[in-house]
Amino acid sequence: MKEAAPVSAANASSKPGPVEPARVPVAGAFADSSGEARHSTGVLYSYWENRGGNEYYWAYRSAASIGLIPTNDDATCVFLAVPWPRFRAAIDGSARQAYERLIRDGFPAIAARLHDAQRVEPVRGFGGQLGFMRQGIGPGWALVGDAAYFKDPLTAHGITDALRDAELLARAAVRGTSEAFAGYEDVRSDLSDRLFEITDEVASFAWTDVQVQALHRALSSEMTREVRFLDALEPFPTLAMSASEGVAV
Ligand SMILES: Cc1cc2nc3c(=O)[nH]c(=O)nc-3n(C[C@H](O)[C@H](O)[C@H](O)COP(=O)(O)OP(=O)(O)OC[C@H]3O[C@@H](n4cnc5c(N)ncnc54)[C@H](O)[C@@H]3O)c2cc1C
Repeated sequence: MKEAAPVSAANASSKPGPVEPARVPVAGAFADSSGEARHSTGVLYSYWENRGGNEYYWAYRSAASIGLIPTNDDATCVFLAVPWPRFRAAIDGSARQAYERLIRDGFPAIAARLHDAQRVEPVRGFGGQLGFMRQGIGPGWALVGDAAYFKDPLTAHGITDALRDAELLARAAVRGTSEAFAGYEDVRSDLSDRLFEITDEVASFAWTDVQVQALHRALSSEMTREVRFLDALEPFPTLAMSASEGVAV
């Protein structure tokens, strides 16, 4: 993740973010009938060395979440996510100052630990985007990953789902029938809908400590269901090719 650029919206190292969280046109249907999430967070992050430990840490407080993720080169990604309205109010000038202030205000113990650490990258940001669930297939096309289904990054599960969908779509493409592609869409929807809904609830920050714990248990249970499904897949069909025969499945 260290080299990953923000997917869209504001680069918070320049000033102010978007006027409102980015919206994208939504095709197809979703359980809440709009296909759109209702909540969005803004994220500020950077990389630190010598932060005194290398554990993975994540905390939720009212109106802010912080995470410490060990990454390459002995650096730690320290990100801060806040509800979008708060993000917009905080990014009034320098992203670096907003990042430091929000950490200090919400997580003083982490701020104290970072005091003697070295920030080795600029502060970057993601200005928020409302999640969406799009129709994933149509005549001659199919979508995977964020193009098909975007959820707030706060639950940190988009890479897994993008890889999952690439695997499932590749299997459908090898079978090559319209039933196979329809099956891809059904499975994608079945495995994604609850993850999408839970993520939106977590991103609302409208929970108590007990409720956010319950949301994370529900998230964990959905991720377990997803892993079990993938684990039970047959080995990927092999493609045999020879110059005279073309491709055989
Ligand atoms: C701040 C933030 C933090 C996140 N943290 C996590 C995390 O910790 N864990 C996690 O699992 N997920 C996380 N995510 C989500 C994760 O980054 C995405 O879900 C994931 O990258 C989606 O992969 P993708 O391949 O669908 O899309 P992308 O990673 O966006 O890749 C699409 C690529 O296609 C390129 N592209 C676009 N249009 C064209 C075109 N017309 N022609 C050619 N190329 C094109 C883009 O430049 C891009 O490189 C985070 C997201 C954000 C915004």
